[in-house]
Amino acid sequence: MPKYTKKASRESRSTPYAIEFLLLQVMGNGTALCRVLMDPRVDPNLVDEDGDTPLFIAANLGNDRYVELLLGDPRVDPNITNEKNGATPLNAAANQGRNRCLELLLADPRVDPNLADEDGRTSLCMAAGLGEDRCVELLLGDPRVDPNLTNEKNGATPLYAAAAEGKDRCVELLLGDPRVDPNMTGEDGNTPLYIAANLGKDRCVELLLGDPRVDPSITNEKKGATPLNVAANQGRNRCLELLLADPRVDPNLADEDGRTPLCMAAGLGQDRCLKILLADARVNPNQADEDGRTPLNGAANRGKDRCVELLLADPRVDPNLASEDGRTPLNAAATQGKDRCVELLLADPRVDPNLAGEDGRTPLCMAAGLGRCLELLLADRRVDPNLADEDGRTPLCMAAFVGEDRYVELLLADPRVNPNQADDSGRTPLNGAATRGEDRCLKILLADERVDVCCADNNGQTPLVAASIQLLRSIDRVGATDGKDPTRCFVLMLKSRRIPIQNLAHSIAYLRHFMPNRRDVTVAEAGGAPLTQQQKAARLVVPVLEAQFKGERRWCAYCLKLTPDANLDLCGGCKQVGYCQQYVLEEMAGPDQTPCHVKHWKDGHRKECARFQEEEEERKGKQAEAGAEGGGGGGSGGGGKKKIGNCKKGRRR
Ligand SMILES: [Zn+2]
Ligand SMILES: [Zn+2]
Repeated sequence: MPKYTKKASRESRSTPYAIEFLLLQVMGNGTALCRVLMDPRVDPNLVDEDGDTPLFIAANLGNDRYVELLLGDPRVDPNITNEKNGATPLNAAANQGRNRCLELLLADPRVDPNLADEDGRTSLCMAAGLGEDRCVELLLGDPRVDPNLTNEKNGATPLYAAAAEGKDRCVELLLGDPRVDPNMTGEDGNTPLYIAANLGKDRCVELLLGDPRVDPSITNEKKGATPLNVAANQGRNRCLELLLADPRVDPNLADEDGRTPLCMAAGLGQDRCLKILLADARVNPNQADEDGRTPLNGAANRGKDRCVELLLADPRVDPNLASEDGRTPLNAAATQGKDRCVELLLADPRVDPNLAGEDGRTPLCMAAGLGRCLELLLADRRVDPNLADEDGRTPLCMAAFVGEDRYVELLLADPRVNPNQADDSGRTPLNGAATRGEDRCLKILLADERVDVCCADNNGQTPLVAASIQLLRSIDRVGATDGKDPTRCFVLMLKSRRIPIQNLAHSIAYLRHFMPNRRDVTVAEAGGAPLTQQQKAARLVVPVLEAQFKGERRWCAYCLKLTPDANLDLCGGCKQVGYCQQYVLEEMAGPDQTPCHVKHWKDGHRKECARFQEEEEERKGKQAEAGAEGGGGGGSGGGGKKKIGNCKKGRRR
């Protein structure tokens, strides 16, 4: 008689009574099987190519009769595992829900009912996870079965497996067994209740909560979250309801990050959960997380409109509570550009729209680069548009300094905005734009009559000087054709016709300090010590300003280039603006070779020119009336205010 082997070897397959033959018989009829089994030469434990023994196949297919017959043979080893997945016949029966086979196998004292397959699952784990109620019942009925034996791979108990898969009846059966520990966690640190709440298995949650042994306050070992936390986090409305209905559940318990269930629901936009939580009188609607962020703050920060709406509708919610960095919900929404939240918050009369963060920035400040939010805030009469941050910067300063021309425009359109309010360094929006080379903002500011073009900062720099200094820093980019020529701000200042003659003189005096002397230039040209950046810039700018002072133009009114060495042809009509001459034409007029004056004429100077001429006539008329002489500067005055550098700065509150 052949010896039993735990695992059949390959050679044994070549016996005359090969397993394929045996299996054929198993599939055939009982009588044939009996005959085969009676043959002493037959090894009833041989496996087929899939690694299955006859008993395994019979159990797997639910062939009760053959399982019975095979178990009746003392030579049959009922614990031989499948070579491929390590499953025993009992595992196979549990896995397939073969109740009768399972019963027969359990009735055999040789069967070990706690053996696990290669995935570490015991028969009870399998049956529970698959919802094979009767199998679970049978297995629990066997005193040898350990109902808390965990899956070796993920540490899940049978109860955990049933709860995770929402197998209600199995959960019920397992809970009915006094040996089952209903609070055992898997390797993920989750209890069965936690995983059921996480995955929204409502009925399982209900069953688990119905067991007095289940502790609903056990937190996830890794994240410190309670089942209620995770239900809120995942938007499991019904689970949340069930958990809240349990008097043992504390609805304000926070996870490791200090987030309560309400915080989570609000931050993730779980509207329905939020509503359920707010309806519970025990829930503290203002409890903040470890960043000091209340549920409203979190919802506003993430743009969860509906949650913001629901929270604002609760009279217990304080809508002005700020987080650690001092941001109120409105400030957070404005910072993130969450328009609808800004709108909702502004609609609440309790909200203070001027509360600033730790950096002193109000919601309007934060929204300075965010179109729709800015519009909404400006539309609110309570909002003070001139409130500055800790550096004294107003929203207009910020927008101008960073080149947000559209917002400069929006802010200037508001009559409450002070266009000249300077920051702590004395820099007005215009000065800041000139300093940073933000030519588009500068252009918009210069077009506003209220903007003071002469206001100097704490270092005595006027916008014109600031534009020149800016040139010093980026002298290498002069002549750039990508529209970012650093001379643009400087030229725009001159082109505005708003620089008074005194301011011009002051700028020339200031910048002359940087002019290199003749020796320096000779040395540099001979290949000696090169000129400094400042010297280079002064050589570029001072001749232009000096020419301006004399009524000449060394900047082109169309392409905004400087020609420091040559006076340009003036417009024949107004004699106020100059255009590139022939020798620079090729380089500057563009591929179509249209001269700058032709382009500018079509581009708007036609209208401007008539106005300039009228103004000039008026000026001459007035001078004639007064009988006074015209002064040295000719056309450069252009009607600007006569003051230098020490204008009144806006007060910071
Ligand atoms: Zn030009
Ligand atoms: Zn003209």
